[in-house]
Amino acid sequence: MIYKTDAVVLRKNKISDSDVILTLFTRKLGKVRAVAKGGRKPKARLSPASHIFVFGEFIISKGKELDRISSVDIHESFYKIREDLSKLAYASYFAELCDSVIVEGATNNRLMDTFLKVLSLITYKGEDFELIKLAFQLKLLNYSGFKPELTRCVSCGNMTFKKVGFDIYQGGLICDDCFLKYHKNAILINPTMVKVMNYLLKADITISVKIKLKPSMINQLNGIMDRYIQLHLERRTFKSLEFLNTIKKTN
Ligand SMILES: [Zn+2]
Repeated sequence: MIYKTDAVVLRKNKISDSDVILTLFTRKLGKVRAVAKGGRKPKARLSPASHIFVFGEFIISKGKELDRISSVDIHESFYKIREDLSKLAYASYFAELCDSVIVEGATNNRLMDTFLKVLSLITYKGEDFELIKLAFQLKLLNYSGFKPELTRCVSCGNMTFKKVGFDIYQGGLICDDCFLKYHKNAILINPTMVKVMNYLLKADITISVKIKLKPSMINQLNGIMDRYIQLHLERRTFKSLEFLNTIKKTN
């Protein structure tokens, strides 16, 4: 059987001197792993498509064990990302995040569209990459069923707050009463941070990343979301995040 679908490359693994396996985020079938014959040979037909972030229409034949890519009509290669270490580091982390939440046979087109939007933002616009990271993390959590609770106390359901706590383990806001009683591990956060997170969750990512925030607030929110994701996606390490943090230190 042969099928045709729009897809973006999330990962590339070499399997021989000439061939690679591409992990694809497809519009019709969710995650697909498929062999690109000759993907490592510069002159091969599939070589231009055998790169991370390439977006195109893939024609794939179903195999017994692994599917095989027959041809690709590239819509956008996002090659500029691969030429800039900082862009590459951020976009690789976003690709690894997608890879960790999507599954075979289940579509997640809201996430795929958001991923394509951030690839465009990183390629063509000058927005703050740390803010893009924060917005993408929240969107991804929302579209994959791991959204933090940001309207009521996760412990008692209370919706009024004098001070606001955030409990990474419980996955959301903690009210004053519960904070004092049970949640010594929760951290106090600025109420504006809750508004920011709710806005980033709801608004279109190409618009929301234009808001102006203090770098200290973006940093603090990034710290919270990195730990939240590590805990709730049950993935202890994201290699691409370690790479990203190394790059940030050297800049
Ligand atoms: Zn409470």
